[in-house]
Amino acid sequence: MKMSGMFSKMIRYSFIVLILTWMVTKPTVGTAQQAGEVIAPWTEGYLDIHHINNGKGDATLFIFPDGTTFLLDAGATIRDRPPFYDSPQRPDASLRPGQWLARYIKAVHPFGENGDLDYAAITHFHGDHMGTVTDDSPSAESGAYQLAGITDVADQIQIRTMIDRNWPDYDYPSPLQGEMMDNYRAFLQWQIQNRNMKAEQFIAGRNDQVILRHNREKYPKFKFQNIAANGDVWTGESATSVRHRFPEEDPPSENNCSIAFRINYGNFAYFSGGDLVGTLPSNAPIWRDMESALAWVVGPVDVHTLNHHGFHDSANSFFLSVLQPRIHILSVYAASHPGPDVLRRMLAEQIYPGSRDIFLTNGMWEGRRTNMIDLFGEEETTWMEERINNVAGSQGHVVVRVEPGGKRYRVIVLDDTSEDRRILSVHGPFEARGTKN
Ligand SMILES: [Zn+2]
Repeated sequence: MKMSGMFSKMIRYSFIVLILTWMVTKPTVGTAQQAGEVIAPWTEGYLDIHHINNGKGDATLFIFPDGTTFLLDAGATIRDRPPFYDSPQRPDASLRPGQWLARYIKAVHPFGENGDLDYAAITHFHGDHMGTVTDDSPSAESGAYQLAGITDVADQIQIRTMIDRNWPDYDYPSPLQGEMMDNYRAFLQWQIQNRNMKAEQFIAGRNDQVILRHNREKYPKFKFQNIAANGDVWTGESATSVRHRFPEEDPPSENNCSIAFRINYGNFAYFSGGDLVGTLPSNAPIWRDMESALAWVVGPVDVHTLNHHGFHDSANSFFLSVLQPRIHILSVYAASHPGPDVLRRMLAEQIYPGSRDIFLTNGMWEGRRTNMIDLFGEEETTWMEERINNVAGSQGHVVVRVEPGGKRYRVIVLDDTSEDRRILSVHGPFEARGTKN
């Protein structure tokens, strides 16, 4: 009796140990991924944010928890001739940058390669965000417009709603002209008439412009808050209340017209603000500092993309001290990204306390050092080069993968030299900090 009692206790004990071992080692979605593996596909409930590197500008694909897709920008700049040595095209130059983007989107699309884009948005009208058009840009099959950047993507993938800062008049702060704008307007007109595309102007303050299109009720903790556009900034109060920052005699620059927004998913918060600026010469009027104007309504975030690629006029101390990002993501394509002082501010624990990690879509490349020495001098270049090579991620597509409910997230860097989407490194899990905003 005694023996069998002890025996059954032992069995019970072993059983408990087994259960505990299983609980600790049991693979959960998203945790098993390691360097060398191909990134697992998006699954329902996750928020995936792909900062895609084509080497020629900005492009970010968001896959929302219900599978709604949102493409922010489709950069395809043409500038890499001496004296500029910009980052090379990725994976290579055999296709146009916009064609590579379309292929990437199709490959990771939640509904497969025939899935469409629920939304595409252009932060502002510059080639590194929408695609530079030249005489050499090929014509779309219809002959109605040329292919570069966003039009190249739309040629392959149906865009349901196209959002930009100035539809339909394109007259703020003054009529927008030139080959790229004319082409974009011809593209919109053709898509609206023939492909049922909707076009909308991004309105600062709204929180119902970009919504979950497939299962909104299931994810009440997901929120897309418009913050700024055309120099107007949300006040943080009712949806349509905005502050107009610029006097008529000094209208905002194209960069300062950029659209900006915050995404919340449970505790997780993300900010993106195109090419807004916030670090100005000391004699510049204060309204041109857009970063300080919107920092308070954004509040602390977990992840942000650096405004204006981390160029020297971005990421002022006040803005960083309010947002306090755990993760900095920089879309880099020129030697001036980031500026040395911007990098110093990002790293400075005097500006805000705690750990932070930096991810660059492009690090060092051939010719970059030469340009950096011209810009910053030899000593500063050596300091920069060492930092660039030692940040958490210095080359590749940067994917932020937020767990269902938004409590935790990881940052996954993917190899950009092929289309395999193989993992170079996994960072986290990080606890989302949970802010009141
Ligand atoms: Zn830009």
